[in-house]
Amino acid sequence: RIIYQNRAGLGSLHSGGKIPLGLQRKGLRILVTGGAGFVGSHLVDRLIARGDSVIVVDNFFTGRKENVMHHFGNPRFELIRHDVVEPLLVEVDQIYHLACPASPVHYKHNPVKTIKTNVVGTLNMLGLAKRVGARFLLTSTSEVYGDPLQHPQKETYWGNVNPIGVRSCYDEGKRTAETLTMDYHRGAGVEVRIARIFNTYGPRMCIDDGRVVSNFVAQALRKEPLTVYGDGKQTRSFQFVSDLVEGLMRLMEGEHVGPFNLGNPGEFTMLELAGVVQETIDPNAQIEFRPNTADDPHKRKPDISKAKELLGWEPKVPLRKGLPLMVQDFRQRIFGDHKEDSS
Ligand code: NAD
Ligand code: UDP
Ligand code: UDP
Repeated sequence: RIIYQNRAGLGSLHSGGKIPLGLQRKGLRILVTGGAGFVGSHLVDRLIARGDSVIVVDNFFTGRKENVMHHFGNPRFELIRHDVVEPLLVEVDQIYHLACPASPVHYKHNPVKTIKTNVVGTLNMLGLAKRVGARFLLTSTSEVYGDPLQHPQKETYWGNVNPIGVRSCYDEGKRTAETLTMDYHRGAGVEVRIARIFNTYGPRMCIDDGRVVSNFVAQALRKEPLTVYGDGKQTRSFQFVSDLVEGLMRLMEGEHVGPFNLGNPGEFTMLELAGVVQETIDPNAQIEFRPNTADDPHKRKPDISKAKELLGWEPKVPLRKGLPLMVQDFRQRIFGDHKEDSS
């Protein structure tokens, strides 16, 4: 008898509440592109637990086999090493399209590849959805709002984006991906869903991916100073990954195309975030200021009234509850399973 170990999984965080009918349905064939990544692997856990058959397609640029290894040997799970920039032939009922590096350090590493992933990769997955009649969900981003002139951001806001900046491969790439998604919907009748995801954190994030939560947590655990970029007064709103996965599944199963903001409206300056990390891990952690990166958005906070009203969704895990769950996972991965941090 095989026991599937759910390493760094989220267990029953969401099993307490009432589960809407759509989320209980079982036995679909579902493609998750980018399913070996941070968000994708948590989504795969939920889909497998629901009884679906899941195909993960991933090129392992930022994803890791370790994130999905606990499903190896399960006949309802399949992992394919494949780059979505190349065409793909599979037969599925739904496609969750997540393949794309999400951290600025990773997406700036090879910007042309990032654009190809967003444009050609999304085109291929939409072509696939059209051929097999699958419902297609795009994981877009709050970055489509750029450095927003409206606060908080509603889905109706068109954004303030620099088309020739160092972040454009990602934010303009995702904007084009949204356009393609709507054009396949209007032009070819493909059933589509669009999620605009705001900063998300949790277990299985890449430890050194340069994002602020993973940086601060890893730095505090390693007794290094927390690197605050700029004056630290810029804001972000941090969502725990189980809330996001719940939102993505409700969106896929619901009747509305979107776009929908999926994020936690709790807004923090980077200095406040550093404070929460100090409280959670090490009150003596030092703070070190560094120059900020180009085109850094000054503030970001989702207006989630649309998702609340039409999907019946809102985040349940505040930063102070979610952060310790991530710290546990990072501590294990940084120091090994048995060694405890001295703090
Ligand atoms: P991640 O980097 O952990 O996961 C992305 C996955 O896609 C990785 O497994 C990677 O190997 C894979 N991938 C990248 N390019 C690929 C390609 N060309 N072909 C096949 N696979 C490829 O990032 P994540 O945080 O899990 O993000 C998942 C999705 O959610 C991304 O589309 C991202 O843009 C979006 N998103 C995430 C956040 C966030 O805060 N995590 C915020 C906004 C949007
Ligand atoms: N595509 C794919 N898998 C499929 C069907 C299509 O990867 O099952 C790719 C196909 O190679 C093409 C893209 O999706 O590059 C768009 O396909 P579509 O049929 O919409 O357009 P066309 O092939 O006519 O350009
Ligand atoms: N940031 C920081 N220290 C770090 C990494 C990032 O102060 O070690 C800041 C960064 O300048 C930005 C915010 O944290 O203002 C969020 O950055 P992240 O890369 O996590 O996500 P994004 O910019 O895509 O929201």
